Amino acid sequence: MPTGSKRTERCSFCGKDAFAVRKLFSGYNAFICDECIALTHDLIADTPAKRAAAQPFKLYKPKEIKAFLDQYVIGQEQAKKTLSVAVYNHYQRLFNPEASAEVELEKSNILMLGPTGTGKTLLAQTLAKMLSVPFSIADATVLTEAGYVGEDVENILVRLYQAADYDKERTETGIVFVDEIDKIARKTANPSITRDVSGEGVQQGLLKILEGTVSNIPPKGGRKHPEQPFVQIDTRNILFICGGAFDSLDKIIARRIGKQQVGFKVDQVVSQIDDMNALLHQVQSEDLLEYGLIPEMIGRLPVVTVLDELSDEAMLQILTEPKNSLIRQYQKVFQMENIELEMTPESLVAVVKIARKRKTGARALRGILEERMLEIMYEAPSYRNVAKIIVTDECITDNAPPIIERSTKSGKQSA
Ligand code: ADP
Repeated sequence: MPTGSKRTERCSFCGKDAFAVRKLFSGYNAFICDECIALTHDLIADTPAKRAAAQPFKLYKPKEIKAFLDQYVIGQEQAKKTLSVAVYNHYQRLFNPEASAEVELEKSNILMLGPTGTGKTLLAQTLAKMLSVPFSIADATVLTEAGYVGEDVENILVRLYQAADYDKERTETGIVFVDEIDKIARKTANPSITRDVSGEGVQQGLLKILEGTVSNIPPKGGRKHPEQPFVQIDTRNILFICGGAFDSLDKIIARRIGKQQVGFKVDQVVSQIDDMNALLHQVQSEDLLEYGLIPEMIGRLPVVTVLDELSDEAMLQILTEPKNSLIRQYQKVFQMENIELEMTPESLVAVVKIARKRKTGARALRGILEERMLEIMYEAPSYRNVAKIIVTDECITDNAPPIIERSTKSGKQSA
């Protein structure tokens, strides 16, 4: 309860006078002000960031990191290895400052290229799960140069600061995933004469924090405001992982390779190296430059790794194998109704076939299952004496009802 007479009362914790605070609460023989309540609440609140901070630090070896990624991410062996080594090196640098100062070990930011829906974000998120350093994901498309409508580049750091539970030191050792980096490519390979607000300018802004700078961030985010106090974040030791689909980059690579051959045609080269995966794996800095990344940015992303288009086989595995695979999730939901859910192998193939047509990689799988399972999910809780539901390929292709097996105790017809 707020106290009545405030004249001589002061907070027993910070000592502030009743007049200096908004509210002073009294207890048995003691007082506490609103500011101290907010502070103590923050201290004891259980947030994911706090839990991460409380974890004892463990230096995972590259093989351990990859084994963890393997539980959630299908295929993409090269990318998983590259990330595991890069993250391990990042830790090594951080926790052996003397050694890294001796030979100036530079951090190796990473560029992940690959078609949409192949696991770039998933890899980043999965890393975040196991790491005890703060981690955040930013979307390059919403960034603009300071002063324009959109988010300032510094907001990437604000998010990391929040993920570090407002701990400056931990923020400075964090990892940031910047998604859709290809969307801020400049439109032509030549430096623009007119200013390119959404492309080159943003790359310049991003470059600064990628290469290492002391950035003033507004601790609560939003636009910088002269009256707001800033927190200074040194980005020298923050690891940046950038991801992008880089549509049509294969054509640029094909053209370059073709130029080295007499009488070349882009289409011929594409068909010679018949799948796009093989082409993308041959990416070089000059291709990224032609795509529209500025040279300094390419220089700051020394580790490039390519994610492959997912095969039908991989998509099938994605449906069932990962620890939290879509099918396992559905099975869990039905299990809560005491119903066993079986998806026939043919039904899974049917899902993959539809996904393939949508051309959004494994991203399509969830949507398709949600559409096709809607009716079954709608009916299931009202079923009685049902032990098992079998989803066949007709359920997927023609929305046919599933096969229902009743429990043996009662032969009653289900709803
Ligand atoms: P992007 O490469 O566009 O960042 P995402 O990582 O966001 O793709 O993938 C979208 C969804 O597709 C993920 O949430 C995940 O369910 C699934 N997915 C994509 N690739 C894989 C993979 N290699 N292994 C397992 N699941 C995957």
